[in-house]
Amino acid sequence: MNVNLQTPIVYLKGVGPNRADTLQSELGIKTFQDLLNLFPNRYIDKTQYYKIAELQRSNADVQIKGKIIHIKTVEQKKGKRLVATFKDDTGEMELVWFRGQKWIRENLKLNEPYVIFGKCNWYSGKFSMPHPEMELLKDNDKGLKVSMQPVYPSTEKLSNKGITNRVINKLVQQLFIDTHGRFQETLSENILEELKLLPKNESLFNIHFPKNQELLARAQFRLKFEELFYIQLQLISKKMLRKQKIKGFNFDQVGKLFNDFYKNHLPFELTNAQKRVIKEIRADLGSNAQMNRLLQGDVGSGKTIVAVMTMLLAIDNDFQACLMAPTEILANQHYTGISELLAGTNIKCALLTGSVKKSARKPIHEQLESGELQILIGTHALLEDKVQFKNLGLAIVDEQHRFGVAQRSKLWHKNRFPPHVLVMTATPIPRTLAMSLYGDLDISVIDELPPGRKPIKTVHRFDSNRLKVFQFIRDEIKKGRQIYMVYPLIQESEALDYKDLMDGYESVARDFPLPNYQISIVHGKMKPADKDFEMNRFVKGETQIMVATTVIEVGVNVPNASVMIIESAERFGLSQLHQLRGRVGRGADQSYCILMTSHKLSNEAKTRLETMVATNDGFEIAEVDLKLRGPGDLMGTQQSGVLNLKIADIVKDNDILKTARYYAIQCLREDPTLEKRENAIIRHAYAQLVKHKNIWTYIS
Ligand code: ADP
Ligand code: MG
Repeated sequence: MNVNLQTPIVYLKGVGPNRADTLQSELGIKTFQDLLNLFPNRYIDKTQYYKIAELQRSNADVQIKGKIIHIKTVEQKKGKRLVATFKDDTGEMELVWFRGQKWIRENLKLNEPYVIFGKCNWYSGKFSMPHPEMELLKDNDKGLKVSMQPVYPSTEKLSNKGITNRVINKLVQQLFIDTHGRFQETLSENILEELKLLPKNESLFNIHFPKNQELLARAQFRLKFEELFYIQLQLISKKMLRKQKIKGFNFDQVGKLFNDFYKNHLPFELTNAQKRVIKEIRADLGSNAQMNRLLQGDVGSGKTIVAVMTMLLAIDNDFQACLMAPTEILANQHYTGISELLAGTNIKCALLTGSVKKSARKPIHEQLESGELQILIGTHALLEDKVQFKNLGLAIVDEQHRFGVAQRSKLWHKNRFPPHVLVMTATPIPRTLAMSLYGDLDISVIDELPPGRKPIKTVHRFDSNRLKVFQFIRDEIKKGRQIYMVYPLIQESEALDYKDLMDGYESVARDFPLPNYQISIVHGKMKPADKDFEMNRFVKGETQIMVATTVIEVGVNVPNASVMIIESAERFGLSQLHQLRGRVGRGADQSYCILMTSHKLSNEAKTRLETMVATNDGFEIAEVDLKLRGPGDLMGTQQSGVLNLKIADIVKDNDILKTARYYAIQCLREDPTLEKRENAIIRHAYAQLVKHKNIWTYIS
């Protein structure tokens, strides 16, 4: 049969309809190509044999020669298991099966030399190996011994159905036989030469059947590079296309309002970072293409003023602007703050949230449609169909992680043309990740805090020191400061967490009694109106202590609050700890963050706490977070498909990513449509990837 890489996997010798189904459902393998691109997770040395007496509890995979001397079925509460005693000249161990016992029992040969392979467990004083891979020694001796045997991804269902690692290995071998191991090159000669990359054929061969360490390393490099290169190529060409195709409103006037504000109403000197970012935004707005920019800046870095000045640019060009925030409190704060900033101008600005009364909405709707209202600030109430602008030219979204991608794009459809979009986020995204996730967005970073800020002092205290901490709180309150006290709230342990919160509240209320002390409490089970009421009491300074779950995490600004106490801090993730800490340090006073924990700490928790104590830099923290948790757990990345990388690892292969990005940019800059002859290979390979959906499809 004539096969190519798009041939359905069912036509590979050794794969019937059953196996084809399992391969597809478990590993997503539909075609020869998919199997070829199933890369091993790791490699093990099959020339090594262990003796039973040498086994360590830490052994991952071991290969042992020996004989089965006894088999029995053991009844247990949840069904039976088959247990064999396996012996070599140094000792005995157990082999255990939970599934397929009948077949195994009938086929196992007693007292014949076997080679077994698998993971060893230490279980009630003995080593045991569940579901070992095994082969009679005489058959095993016939096989090729390789020092780097690939280990392929596996699932329980695969091993249940007998598709073991060895089976997959054999299938891959068969694939190389059927295709003669000839695969089309997918990178241009230029790139291969400049980076001294292994050709495609050799890379694929060595990734599955490594000849030696060096060739394996080169094969891995080449395949990682290729994977990242095509993702970058996709992101960057998308971005270029957007800039060409999606016409944006051209804000070519830097007019009266902007200049007047800059000269007469700016309450402080802009930081260099703010100036740079405004320049970047201005360049976008005057470029005829739609702006789609992510503005990253740590909490307190001054994103609001950048938003305001961008809105002025829109209004100067006779367009309207809107700003959407994730919560009512935040929308209110933006409205108050921005109204103050614009006090000296004639700009008309309104607030629209869920709690704005019907009667008050009507004039807002009318003035929006007539164009009388120039700025609308609010929550997702802005997205309602009733809200129609005369000419929305700019949409700003604060704290993007609270909104889904779909919601953001809804703002786009309020117009004939998409407005310019600026997304502001205080969650620092490591550059490496940003490059792969938001590669088709432009990114601006405010990497400098306004002058005069005192860095927040962060300490770690054990619960046993609570009395001292309370004394510290009393002293700060005496100075007129306010305190946050935050408790974790995690869905899985919600009931317990609420109990902790309430216990905590009671103990604080006992130590800080009325009438000298006023305490607010805010948590997710309260009605929004009650929450806002309590929050506002704290904002106005009527209460000194705010006991809360993480609801206060988002952008709340109370400059007089100078102490953040985080209870059970070991249970929070790094980015959340950093966000919470960002609630203090907003005023002129020295601020503190106190991380309270029990004595029982995992190593990872220790690293998180140490990192918090060591640095205030959000990007540094984000990098540590990424290393600790991997990209999959970082907020907002689940939906992006970044986990679907076949061989590269965004964290570990950071350098390769940079190189790949560099080459992708080079390539498209010189030849945007990949028409040149030397890029024919790339154009073809890219088209194939897109056609067969083998490239991660980026959701924007
Ligand atoms: P965030 O980036 O967290 O949204 P904000 O825009 O709320 O930060 O700014 C935080 C505080 O810093 C505000 O009180 C703001 O007035 C102040 N601020 C912003 N930029 C400057 C600056 N260049 N100089 C002095 N203070 C500034
Ligand atoms: Mg903000």
